[in-house]
Amino acid sequence: MRVAVIGGGFTGLSCAVRLVDMGITPVIFESKKECGGLARGFREDEWRWNLENFYHHVFTNDKDVLELAKKVGAKTLILHPQTNSYYHGKETPLDSPISLLKFSGISLWARLHMGMGLMLLKLLPNGMFLEKYHAVEVLPKLLGREGYKVVWEKLLKAKFGPHVNEVNLAWFWSRVAKRTKNLGYFEGGFEGLIRKTEEYIKRHGGEIRTGVMVERIEIDGDGVLVDGERFDSVVVTTPAPIAAKMVRGLTIPEIDYLWGQTLILETSRKLINGYWLNILEKDFPFLVMVEHTNMIDKKHYGGKRLVYLGNYLPEGHKQLKMNEEQLLKIYSPFIKKINTHFNKRLIKKSFLFREPFAQPVFPVNYSRMIPNSRLGSGVYLANMSMVYPFDRGTNYAVKLGNDIAELVVSDLR
Ligand SMILES: Cc1cc2nc3c(=O)[nH]c(=O)nc-3n(C[C@H](O)[C@H](O)[C@H](O)COP(=O)(O)OP(=O)(O)OC[C@H]3O[C@@H](n4cnc5c(N)ncnc54)[C@H](O)[C@@H]3O)c2cc1C
Repeated sequence: MRVAVIGGGFTGLSCAVRLVDMGITPVIFESKKECGGLARGFREDEWRWNLENFYHHVFTNDKDVLELAKKVGAKTLILHPQTNSYYHGKETPLDSPISLLKFSGISLWARLHMGMGLMLLKLLPNGMFLEKYHAVEVLPKLLGREGYKVVWEKLLKAKFGPHVNEVNLAWFWSRVAKRTKNLGYFEGGFEGLIRKTEEYIKRHGGEIRTGVMVERIEIDGDGVLVDGERFDSVVVTTPAPIAAKMVRGLTIPEIDYLWGQTLILETSRKLINGYWLNILEKDFPFLVMVEHTNMIDKKHYGGKRLVYLGNYLPEGHKQLKMNEEQLLKIYSPFIKKINTHFNKRLIKKSFLFREPFAQPVFPVNYSRMIPNSRLGSGVYLANMSMVYPFDRGTNYAVKLGNDIAELVVSDLR
C-alpha cells in the first residue's frame, strides 16, 4: 500500500517513519529543494554545521522528538544555556523562581505574586479547561498587574500582534508547564536530525521527492489522486490555507497565522551574555535576540558568532517589506542600547528569513475549531494548527506525524 505525504517538515517526516515501521510505503512530496520545513537551515562554505533559518532548540521533556532522534541515530546534545530578559538597560536572568525573586524591575510583592501564579499554572496537570478564558484578562489578576505589565504584556503583544486579545489562557498554561531550563540540540544542527530521518525513511523503502509542489488532491473511487497519481491515502501536512487550496471541496476551518521573521547577523564580537534574550522594553523593533553561538560552540561555524533578531509579524506589517539593510538601520540603535560596543562594522554578513505561516493564533475555545484529521475518504490533515494547547514545536510535529500515520493505517486495514 502507498500513502502520499504532502510536506517534508517534521510532521511529514515522522509520519513517513511511522508508516515504514508499519510496512506501508510513504511517498513524501516536498515543494522546496530540501526537507525540514520551518526547522530547515542553511550553511556557509566555511561552516561544518547548518544553522536553522529560525532559532531552534528542544526541551529536555520533548519525548517524541528525542525518541525519533534515537531511532534514526541522530546524536542529541543536552545544553545548559542562559535565558535572560532585557529590561531597563540590563540583561537579567528571569527563568527560575530564584531569578524571579532577585528581579529588581518590579516590587517584592509583585515578584511573589507572579511566582505564586506561575507555580499554580506549572502544578496544573492539565490546563485545557483554561481555554475558555482570554489570557489578557486573567493574567493581570493571576500574575499580578505590575508583573504582567512589565514582563508578560509586551511578550504577548509581540508574539500575537493584533490577535493578542483573542489568545486563550490554555496556550499560556502550556508554555509555562512545558519549559525546561536545560535545552537539547542535535549534532550537525536540526539538519543532522532531518538527514538521518530521511536516510531512515529511504532505507526502509519510503520515497522522498523534493522540489515538487503539489497542486491538487482528488478523491477517486477507493483511492486518492495527487496531481493525477494514484495512492491509497494522502496525508496533507502543509499549513491550513495551502491545504484548503489543494483539497478543494473539503472543509478546512480558517485559521489566523502570523509571519515569522529573523535577521541573522554574523558578527566578530559577542553581542549578548546569554543564549536567549527576551526584550521587555516596549519600544524595541524586535521581540527576541538569540545568540546561537552562546549555546553551540562557534567552532562549528568557522569561528563566526551568529545572532538572531526575531519577530512575529501580522500580514501587511511594514517590516515585512524591508530588506536586510533597511531592517538593520532600524534595529542598530536598539542593538547598541543592549551592547554599547555594537557598530555596523562588527557585522560580517547578514541573512534574512521570512515564513508566512509561522505561528497559528489560538482564540478562546479553540478546541471546538481544530480542523478534523479525516478530511474525506482517504484524505487526512495533520498540521501545526492542530498542535494544541502545547506551543507548536518539532516535538509536537513528531507526535502529530506518528498519530496520523496510525490513524491512516487503522483505516486502511
Ligand atoms: C520562529 C520559529 C521558531 C521556532 N523555534 C522552535 C524551537 O526552538 N523548537 C522547536 O521544536 N520548534 C520550533 N519551531 C516550530 C517548528 O519549526 C515547527 O513546529 C515544525 O517545524 C512544524 O513542522 P511541520 O511539518 O508541521 O510544518 P512545516 O515545517 O511548515 O512543514 C510543511 C512543509 O510543507 C511544504 N509544503 C508546503 N506547500 C506544499 C505543497 N503544495 N507541496 C509540497 N510541499 C509543500 C513546506 O515547504 C514545508 O516543508 C519554531 C518555529 C518558528 C517559526
